[in-house]
Amino acid sequence: MEADHRKHFAHPEHPLLKTHYDSKSTKICDICHAKLSGLVGYRCNDCDFDIHEACADYFKETVSFFAHPWHTLTLSRIPDGTIKWSCNICRESCPPGMLVYRCIKCNFDVHPLCTLLPQTIRSPLHPKHDLNMVPGSGRCSGCCKDLNIWHYRCGFCLYKSHIGCAVSGTPPISAQNTTAVGQNRITSVAKFLLKTSFVIAINAATDGRALPVLNVLEAALVD
Ligand SMILES: [Zn+2]
Ligand SMILES: [Zn+2]
Ligand SMILES: [Zn+2]
Ligand SMILES: [Zn+2]
Ligand SMILES: [Zn+2]
Ligand SMILES: [Zn+2]
Repeated sequence: MEADHRKHFAHPEHPLLKTHYDSKSTKICDICHAKLSGLVGYRCNDCDFDIHEACADYFKETVSFFAHPWHTLTLSRIPDGTIKWSCNICRESCPPGMLVYRCIKCNFDVHPLCTLLPQTIRSPLHPKHDLNMVPGSGRCSGCCKDLNIWHYRCGFCLYKSHIGCAVSGTPPISAQNTTAVGQNRITSVAKFLLKTSFVIAINAATDGRALPVLNVLEAALVD
């Protein structure tokens, strides 16, 4: 294989060509859904498949994730059909063809970016104690709306919060709703991941290995 080609499990059918996307490119990364303009990535021209170099390097074929500790999750595509899939963590919809980490046995699906969400964070909105991501129910201490199943909760007091509210006070994007940021079909989680409390926790949890992915998101979100 030539030096500027690479094989990747996310697109095993064909070798991918290293590509410098120009600043006007409207291509979107098949893994993180942020744009590739101005960045380096890998492309299959035949299939219109593109991924950031950072995503190609960071995301693995399988992952173990604290929210589904029973089974390994495998990066695979949402199947065609009438079933509506959504991310078990952020609740945003996952259309057919989207690459997500899945446990087929348990119908557990999670966006690749959502696997970056830290299990434990220190929020500026609740600086006294750590918050842990746990399943449950109740109302958000930030926006007072119903919580999604997975949310951040303080183990010491009654503080609990949506993923987004924990770091920004932004009300949650409702389920089945995907934010459009320019050309991006990017999930709302992408914006939360760049908040300082998350960046610190993600870097600690990944030994800095996820930093290139966060840099890509940052580049994609400034227009
Ligand atoms: Zn990407
Ligand atoms: Zn291809
Ligand atoms: Zn998600
Ligand atoms: Zn499972
Ligand atoms: Zn909230
Ligand atoms: Zn507390």
